[in-house]
Amino acid sequence: MEQIISRCGNICSECPWSTFVRKKIVKEDWGEYSETVKKYTGYKPVKYEWEGCVGCATPNDELPSHPFFNFLKKCRTRKCGQHNEIPNCAYCGRFPCANTVASDKYTKERVSEKLGKDVDDDEYARYIKMFDSITNLNEVRSGLKDTQIKNPKLVDHKKEIPELKGTFKNASFKFIYDILIAIANSNLGIKGIDTVSGLELFKERKEFLWRFLWLIGIFGNINKHELSIDSGTLYDNRKPISLPNNEEGWKVIFDILKEFGIDSELEIKTDKLYTPGGYMRAKIPKTNKPAYILKMKTSSELQKYPVFKALNEILSELQNKTGKRAFSNFKKLNLNPLLE
Ligand code: SF4
Ligand code: SF4
Repeated sequence: MEQIISRCGNICSECPWSTFVRKKIVKEDWGEYSETVKKYTGYKPVKYEWEGCVGCATPNDELPSHPFFNFLKKCRTRKCGQHNEIPNCAYCGRFPCANTVASDKYTKERVSEKLGKDVDDDEYARYIKMFDSITNLNEVRSGLKDTQIKNPKLVDHKKEIPELKGTFKNASFKFIYDILIAIANSNLGIKGIDTVSGLELFKERKEFLWRFLWLIGIFGNINKHELSIDSGTLYDNRKPISLPNNEEGWKVIFDILKEFGIDSELEIKTDKLYTPGGYMRAKIPKTNKPAYILKMKTSSELQKYPVFKALNEILSELQNKTGKRAFSNFKKLNLNPLLE
């Protein structure tokens, strides 16, 4: 069969999540195959009975209705490739941009290092290469002529912050508001926000960050300039966002918060932090206990005011005054209902 490459450089025609591979492997061999895939990639493919992914090159209106395809529809690299009318990132003038989901996590060398043994060519070809996306895209790129490479069609990024129609009743509220404005006016650590993938990542991050600030402000345990919140509370109240899948994902958020004067870390409470599928747990298996505690502390520049306490007061007052619209007002930075 002809090789099918995803927008981000994975080889769909050899992907263990795909319908293509399900047609090549008999059910009896699936258990051993999926365990081996997990050994090399860290993720266990979904069960054999599921029809499998049809590949991200499939247009939206031809994707099956299974929830799995929501993740494909939301993929920022897929959207970027569609917008730019190119088959994959190898055809893009910005490749490899900072926002593509293509990664160098599955090179032969990195997987060998992770496993503590040399992966041979056969193992690499069977279980790893399909996800060695940057290498795959570089291979595609090396076969392209200059005329086949296109610069991305740029997109606008508008930041809309409502005008304040009054004054805050105390200085600590204004102090917090200014921090929130600085966060809202930043690019949240994203380079290349003028491309579809950059803008999509910005929207995801913004959505996450505002919900996260809401959760810590409402549910966090505050002690002067420190705050802690457990993963169970975050998980139970997270919607509409998802929590990061791994510690690296949290680090991205912590790096953004650090820019605004907040140091954060995770205190891990279990040696079973990851599911067999490779996702970070919020609760210790078979218990309701949190898998980790998130700890935050304001830097000395922010200690002029009790930042976490003031955030909690702002959010509580917003809830009292605007009820169900409180989160939406907070997300839009519409704090006018609190002004005098
Ligand atoms: S999961 Fe990704 S790599 Fe696998 S078939 Fe679907 S689009 Fe392709
Ligand atoms: S801008 Fe980035 S994500 Fe978009 S097509 Fe180019 S390399 Fe891929």
